[in-house]
Amino acid sequence: VIAELIEQQAPLTDWPAEFFAVTEEIRKPGLLLNQPFNNGTALAATFARGPAETLAEVDLSNLRGRGGAGFKTALKWRTCSAQNETPHYVICNADEGEPGTFKDRMLLDVYADQVFEGMTLCAAIIGSDQGLLYLRAEYLFLYEQLQRVLKHRRANGLLGRNILGRSGFDFDIEIRMGAGAYICGEASAQIESLEGKPGIPRVKPPNSVICGYQRKPTVVDNVETFFAATHIAIKGGQWFAEVGTAQSTGSKLLSISGDCARPGIYEYPFGTSIEEILRDCGADDVLGVQVGGPSGTFISNRELQRRIAFEDLSTAGSFMVFNNSRSIFDIVQNFTDFFAHESCGFCTPCRVGTTLLKNQLRKIVEGNGAAVDLEELNEICLVVKNNSHCGLGDSAANPILSTLVSHPELYLKQLKQSSFTPGFDLDATLA
Ligand code: SF4
Repeated sequence: VIAELIEQQAPLTDWPAEFFAVTEEIRKPGLLLNQPFNNGTALAATFARGPAETLAEVDLSNLRGRGGAGFKTALKWRTCSAQNETPHYVICNADEGEPGTFKDRMLLDVYADQVFEGMTLCAAIIGSDQGLLYLRAEYLFLYEQLQRVLKHRRANGLLGRNILGRSGFDFDIEIRMGAGAYICGEASAQIESLEGKPGIPRVKPPNSVICGYQRKPTVVDNVETFFAATHIAIKGGQWFAEVGTAQSTGSKLLSISGDCARPGIYEYPFGTSIEEILRDCGADDVLGVQVGGPSGTFISNRELQRRIAFEDLSTAGSFMVFNNSRSIFDIVQNFTDFFAHESCGFCTPCRVGTTLLKNQLRKIVEGNGAAVDLEELNEICLVVKNNSHCGLGDSAANPILSTLVSHPELYLKQLKQSSFTPGFDLDATLA
């Protein structure tokens, strides 16, 4: 049914309600999802402590962006607040398009007040009076309820003029819909899209924190980052930093899906092993786990002691489990097709290269490839990886490159000349 609707380009409002009505089950609430919250408490704490002192708490917490890149939140906010150019903007990136990620959808569905409060306290810190929530097109069904939350917050003095009676602190949030492009999850492409232009990543520097929306200083952060900041403002940076590892403090929400008995939303302290997560979600006979979506890392069943952390396996939240009934090639082809489809077309290495990768991989997987084709596949991977303009191109070859290293025997088995030894060093390729 869904495939037909896509084929007909039916508006999302025509899609069956049950397709959208699912709120993934919260299976394992932890540090943040377990916290009690009353509207306005994080803002009151921010005003009582002072914006500069609250920024110091965010710094102490060592909170890093939850969208995947892991940039230090306090540094971003401080840099923005230091810019003389005005106005400053706060953007919440809710363009959750990474396949296998759905934790922001749950946060916006169940914890929207805490996300909006995080945006508002960020505004108090950086000196902004305008916030934008960039909502993924496929989350249109959340639009009306989010508007109701905003309306309620305005009525209660938590948005609008003189917030919480504090003279001179005005801030409001507008929701803008995306149009379905994966690349608009990239901060600078998202800003272009918000300005009404095609979502093409900008050339950096300057970074958006200096020259962002409307060429003004802008903080762009993920939904989960603002959600975490709300609780840091209430409980303090030390409380947050006591959980996790030294380089990756706090906890991470994971969207767990695939071949497991208990898919859903899980919250873990950073540093938790893949093995433990698989045990919790009821996965056995595991072939591997894709951590971080198609642009992330495929972890084979020989590496399950690895950990969720910026210093080991970084993820925006996608955790897809595959059991031994799956073909690695099905997974890699699916991801490679995805990148070819989502390439914005701006630069040649990615626009042409992702399609070449897709075709070359198919040739090998279908048993029509010779030794030279495998070598060529590797070369195209390197061209795309090393010459593309943005992160999409940088990571488009990862599914192929990582499985070439972890399972070279499978690729060799597909070749017409099965005795072939690659003429390149796979380890050196990845390094
Ligand atoms: Fe667009 Fe791909 Fe180039 Fe990024 S790497 S700018 S997605 S064509």
